[in-house]
Amino acid sequence: MRGVVMESAGDVRVEDVADARIHKPTDAVIKLTAACICGSDLWPYRGAQPVDHQMMGHEYVGVVTEVGSDVKSVEPGDFVVGSFCLSDGTCEICTDGYPSRCVNGGFMSGAQAEYARVPLADGTLVKTPGQPDASLIPSLLAASDVLGTGWFGAVAAQAGPGKTVAVVGDGAVGLMAILAARQLGASRIIAMSRHASRQRLAREFGATDIVEERGDAGAEAIRKLTNGLGAHSVVEAVGTQESMMQAIHAARSGGSVGFVGVSHGVEIPGSELFGKEIHLFGGPAPVRLFLPDLIDRIWNHQIDPGKVFDLTLPLERAAEGYKAMDERRAIKVLLQP
Ligand SMILES: [Zn+2]
Repeated sequence: MRGVVMESAGDVRVEDVADARIHKPTDAVIKLTAACICGSDLWPYRGAQPVDHQMMGHEYVGVVTEVGSDVKSVEPGDFVVGSFCLSDGTCEICTDGYPSRCVNGGFMSGAQAEYARVPLADGTLVKTPGQPDASLIPSLLAASDVLGTGWFGAVAAQAGPGKTVAVVGDGAVGLMAILAARQLGASRIIAMSRHASRQRLAREFGATDIVEERGDAGAEAIRKLTNGLGAHSVVEAVGTQESMMQAIHAARSGGSVGFVGVSHGVEIPGSELFGKEIHLFGGPAPVRLFLPDLIDRIWNHQIDPGKVFDLTLPLERAAEGYKAMDERRAIKVLLQP
């Protein structure tokens, strides 16, 4: 089968790779209907994370072709969406509601390919109500990571009715957090973005205001819009020191920051933590927890997160997709196996 391999930073190839097979009785194999490139794939691509001949891809939708002997919730022929975090769904951490930190879990990989092995299938995959119409595929694929992650960011930031929500980061996850805040009933949603095309999409997803400034100037602009207080809820969807501090400074006292950008070199001074008196919660999103609800909203055409994909390429041209995302010419790239 064909699969995407990152040889080293900046070097993405599509190669013949070992066929996806059942290794453990809890595994499933799926034939991918669509795959995509994640903003987090750019960290190794840019050399900010080590990489050596690694199969790529952790967002996936497809049809089950084979299951291990212990798998009970899905069977060959089922259309499934899975979380980028693998989880058994039964350990104490999973049942506490944190499947992304499952004690037996890990991260999905190898989904930018024709087929993929999904470990812990029962606790990781969710079956759709039937075979989806082709128009639903991008949205279901988004649910696998970016939508679920943006949703978690909004929930972690306690977005809800009457709240002003600010979103730091206009990548796919930030845009999905805007959609989530809207669905959760936030009254005002401020997108922090300086790119016209992303601002337009942000407004389509529910943003009511746009702030173009960054860093301390960005936080100051948020305070100006909120009677000098700051936002009730801030979603941090980048993962850098500047974006994290921008998020913390944009939150009002008693407010909440939901951080979902993969943290790279972020350090929060204790004096800020103590002095601001805010709630901080984040990490890898427990997407599996939200999947049944998200699939339902997509299936009923209540949300259309698939609009976040602005470039579609055949799997064979994955390298072009990485380049387009790296150069910010594309927000998110869908790959067709
Ligand atoms: Zn678990």
